[in-house]
Amino acid sequence: MSTTTTHVYDTIVVGAGISGIAAAYKMNKEGYDDYIVLEKADRVGGTWRDNSYPGCGCDVPSALYSFSFSPSHKWSHLFAKQPEILSYLEEVTAKFDLYKKIEFNNELLSAKWDQIKGIWNLETSKGVYQAKTVMFTTGPITEPSMPKLKGIESFKGEMFHSARWNHDADLKGKRIAVIGTGASAIQFIPQVQPLAKQLLVFQRTAPWVLPKADMDLNETAKGVIQRFPIIQQTWRNSIAQILNGINFGLRNPKVLKPINVLSRQLLKLQIQDEKLRKDVTPNFDIGCKRLLFANNYYPALQQDNVSLIPHGLVEIDGNTVVAANGERHEVDVIIWGTGFEVSHPPIGKRVYDTDGKLLTERWKDSSPEAYLGTSIEGLPNAFLVLGPNILVYDSFIGIAEAQIGYIVDGLIKMKKQGIKQLMIKKHVLDKHNHLVQKHIKTTVFNAGGCKSYYLDANGRNFAAWPWSLKKLKAQLKTLDLDHYDAA
Ligand SMILES: Cc1cc2nc3c(=O)[nH]c(=O)nc-3n(C[C@H](O)[C@H](O)[C@H](O)COP(=O)(O)OP(=O)(O)OC[C@H]3O[C@@H](n4cnc5c(N)ncnc54)[C@H](O)[C@@H]3O)c2cc1C
Repeated sequence: MSTTTTHVYDTIVVGAGISGIAAAYKMNKEGYDDYIVLEKADRVGGTWRDNSYPGCGCDVPSALYSFSFSPSHKWSHLFAKQPEILSYLEEVTAKFDLYKKIEFNNELLSAKWDQIKGIWNLETSKGVYQAKTVMFTTGPITEPSMPKLKGIESFKGEMFHSARWNHDADLKGKRIAVIGTGASAIQFIPQVQPLAKQLLVFQRTAPWVLPKADMDLNETAKGVIQRFPIIQQTWRNSIAQILNGINFGLRNPKVLKPINVLSRQLLKLQIQDEKLRKDVTPNFDIGCKRLLFANNYYPALQQDNVSLIPHGLVEIDGNTVVAANGERHEVDVIIWGTGFEVSHPPIGKRVYDTDGKLLTERWKDSSPEAYLGTSIEGLPNAFLVLGPNILVYDSFIGIAEAQIGYIVDGLIKMKKQGIKQLMIKKHVLDKHNHLVQKHIKTTVFNAGGCKSYYLDANGRNFAAWPWSLKKLKAQLKTLDLDHYDAA
């Protein structure tokens, strides 16, 4: 493989989704400009480029699910849909002149630390790059998760995952099986239902689906928001306060008990059929799995052409799908709404630690761990964005921005103080993770009686932050060099 560049960058950022864009913006703002962003695809946007299924949109209001440095007055709804989120990300990239820093169609294949030279060697699809530091903004929710099912290869119809939607597939008049009832499925089921001849929804676990306080924003409303940015700022602050309240409940499940009761009552109003209501009533505390919001999901389930099968799919036999209770149905199309592979982030298969071990190997018996979701033992001069145990019920954009502020603070300190190598101290990391695991036990994520994607096969919660967003942001305010071995 040829060497693309002999230049040793101060930093190479991998991934041009929301986090990569925010990182580039922040580094430019700080005058830290010897960096590039490598992106394997041909467009920015990450999640919002790859997930184009019908109905795809954010479930945190756009006033908050947008960059703090670039509010938009153009949202057509309080909760924007995927096409406008993607356009927004492209507009921001152009507005802040970040395109010149991004190399598209350039995939990181492996990252290895050279202890002698004190640099990272990045083997990419376009050659070898070198950098003093690396920032992995490769995303927390990217790799579609597909169950390994008996007979899957025998299916002759159309089959695709929601994150890789096949827009060429003609769904009109087809018998369609949707597998899963998670965040993506509840958004696309109401869109697929009117097209299908028959729609079978395979539900292993009933999720909590709460009403979504969405609203159209017409041209007049957009004009007012543009003229008076204070409206948007006030709305942003109000949403943040509401989410703070929700997060308090998630950390203190007793507070959520009345909401559990209320939500069950609400189901009575939304679903008349007793059997269906029983089948969609969750058997765990609200908030244990990610909260879902939709106004059109329960109505879609009650249409004549829809059947909810309250069981997982266990086998495919030709064009017959077989549920866990033995029920068999012939279908033309299978849509996998089975979520993402989150406990084994794909970047783990590309990055080697100082012992020459891939992160996936290190994490094979357990799930990922890091200091503040950022710094990993055995990875000097490397920073992860939206890594383990950083998830708060809030906008990922705000969390990523806070984390990037912390990382860039560290990068600038390294440069100013001539620090060649920076690695998290083991005792700092261990103490942090001990506290995380101790405090997470009483949150609804661990104590709410569900099996969510926050938990690994051993029941260890590798995803959530057990405290408030305020505490997370306070800890991310500056990178304390005392927490690191600096040489
Ligand atoms: C359907 C869906 C809806 C969501 N809705 C919300 C929401 O409402 N609110 C919320 O807060 N969060 C939501 N999320 C979470 C969402 O993932 C984050 O909000 C955010 O988009 C993460 O951005 P990111 O840049 O960190 O990662 P990503 O968007 O995943 O971007 C990572 C980028 O890295 C690139 N990349 C990966 N590996 C390599 C490699 N080896 N070499 C080069 N490039 C690479 C990818 O191509 C991609 O462009 C949602 C997620 C999904 C899937």
